[in-house]
Amino acid sequence: PVVLGIESSCDETGAGLVRDGRLLGRALASSMAEHARFGGVVPEIAARAHVHALTPVVRGALADAGLRTADIGAVAVTTGPGLSSALQVGLAGAKGLAYALGVPLYGVHHLAGHVAADTLEHGPLPDPCVVLIVSGGHTSLLLVRDLVRDPITHLGDTLDDAAGECFDKVARVFGLPYPGGPAIDRTAREGDPRAVPFPRPLTTGAPANRFTFSFSGLKTAGARWAEAHRAAGRPLPLADGAASLQEAIADVLTRKAVAACAEHDVRTLVVVGGVAANSRVRSLAEERCSAAGITLRVPPLRLCTDNGAMIAAVGDLLVRAGAEPAPLDVSIDPSAPLEYAALHPGAGS
Ligand code: ATP
Ligand code: MG
Ligand code: FE
Repeated sequence: PVVLGIESSCDETGAGLVRDGRLLGRALASSMAEHARFGGVVPEIAARAHVHALTPVVRGALADAGLRTADIGAVAVTTGPGLSSALQVGLAGAKGLAYALGVPLYGVHHLAGHVAADTLEHGPLPDPCVVLIVSGGHTSLLLVRDLVRDPITHLGDTLDDAAGECFDKVARVFGLPYPGGPAIDRTAREGDPRAVPFPRPLTTGAPANRFTFSFSGLKTAGARWAEAHRAAGRPLPLADGAASLQEAIADVLTRKAVAACAEHDVRTLVVVGGVAANSRVRSLAEERCSAAGITLRVPPLRLCTDNGAMIAAVGDLLVRAGAEPAPLDVSIDPSAPLEYAALHPGAGS
């Protein structure tokens, strides 16, 4: 069947259509610009934007695929993690469609969506693979076997901030526009990555921290560096600061990811999530994987950040695995831990 995927966990309203692992059509709307003057996502603004965007985005994905509503054979929707008010809008829409069409509904974990995004470009994931998921709210190293049948093993997570948060917060202190990650990436092009010796948190010392991340210290270091220049009345060498911060983040992420592959004797590394769009994360991962004889998979940019196609990709895998659909009274789980790709909290109880 054709699976419709709906994503509304944050500020992107996404719809995608997938059948047998193939992406048929997609559409995306974003309320990003409406949040820019607040320097971060405002949940009520995001939720209202989803209400306006959902129907046009679903229609847009159908038009993109050359399909009609009646062609939809199953509906998959992000039920968590994410902003409650934003998740509610997507889930309500998905339930209405599934009920009206008489097709099964699947609740999907947003992060499993980020992982599955890569399958739309590069085919099924090898079993096992190491996944570095690095986004606005999460930074984890995972050992993934069968994404929809097996539990997901966390090799390590961040103790504090996500890498995307570090990009976004430091960009704000640097006076760069929101969202900060892409702005740092652009600004870094003209800079020297060795100009500022930013720390590489948790890369030395206790073996227990080998696959664990910490980005709050790096965030503070970035802010201190900018403040020191301002206090001394010196102009901020922004390009050098951005390049050095980006280098520190990319260094830590890729070093630990490659070490995790070696430790677990895994031949494939998959890097996913919004920060996988970063040019230096991509190039350094490529360098280090090729040196270590590891196959690297990174989705194209448009599949790295939030979208509906990635949720449809998980739904398609669940359908083909014969997974149990969610009951129509399924609820959202805004802080769901990533254990299974299917997320049907509150099911039937
Ligand atoms: P989560 O998936 O953890 O719930 P999210 O959905 O908000 O969080 P994504 O959409 O996956 O996150 O990614 C957004 C993050 O990716 C932001 O922090 C953004 O700054 C970062 N990002 C996007 N493009 C780039 C880039 N080129 N360089 C660095 N960071 C980037
Ligand atoms: Mg976003
Ligand atoms: Fe995301």
